[in-house]
Amino acid sequence: MNRNVLGLAVVVAALAAGAAKPPSDAVVLFDGTQKSFDANWTDMKGRKAKWKLVDGTIEATRSAGDIRTRREFGDVQLHVEWQVPANLPPYDMNSGNSGVFMMGLYEVQIFESHETDPADMKHPFYADGQAASIYGQNPPLVNPTRRRGEWQTYDIVFYRPVFDGAKCVRPGSVTVFLNGVLVQDGWPLEGPTGHIRRTRQTKPPSDKGPVKLQQHLCPVRFCNVWIRELPEARRRTR
Ligand code: MG
Repeated sequence: MNRNVLGLAVVVAALAAGAAKPPSDAVVLFDGTQKSFDANWTDMKGRKAKWKLVDGTIEATRSAGDIRTRREFGDVQLHVEWQVPANLPPYDMNSGNSGVFMMGLYEVQIFESHETDPADMKHPFYADGQAASIYGQNPPLVNPTRRRGEWQTYDIVFYRPVFDGAKCVRPGSVTVFLNGVLVQDGWPLEGPTGHIRRTRQTKPPSDKGPVKLQQHLCPVRFCNVWIRELPEARRRTR
């Protein structure tokens, strides 16, 4: 290996190692341990979350429902790694189905979407239901989803909607990188996401809400979950 190639290999290895480590100002929401999971997550009623811990990951356990963070957040950067099982049954509505909900209301979809083309809608159901869609609102710009069984990475930048009384003066927005590729570029949220229906701007109950992970009849796994709160000052300059 010549020196340049060796140097590049070292840089790439360093970047890969760095990517796995949360930044110093992050709130770590799951570090692979039961202690971390119990400290940061509950079921949707605030009780102990019953998702299974498997090899340092948490698995969306069929009977255990959705889970949510104990803490609530507004504007954030969120990092989540997820994996669709390698041994899925033949394709159906629940193949890899899960999701990451910002403020508990706005879903970035998780699905088995390797080689699904968002442009020609070969997907047998709907384009805005595939991985990295803003569910029911906007399909991803491109589809860098890896094969089932491989780990995928979401890096999400979320700004909450702003209301003056009941009037929405600025919609929320979502930017998503899937496996390092920009797939949602500041999508202005139409309102809370929903299943095959257009939504309207609805004022959230609070300026902050939990991160929610969806249990949707498929044992999707998660690891390395961390979040950074973004200052309000950043919002005012946008
Ligand atoms: Mg979903």
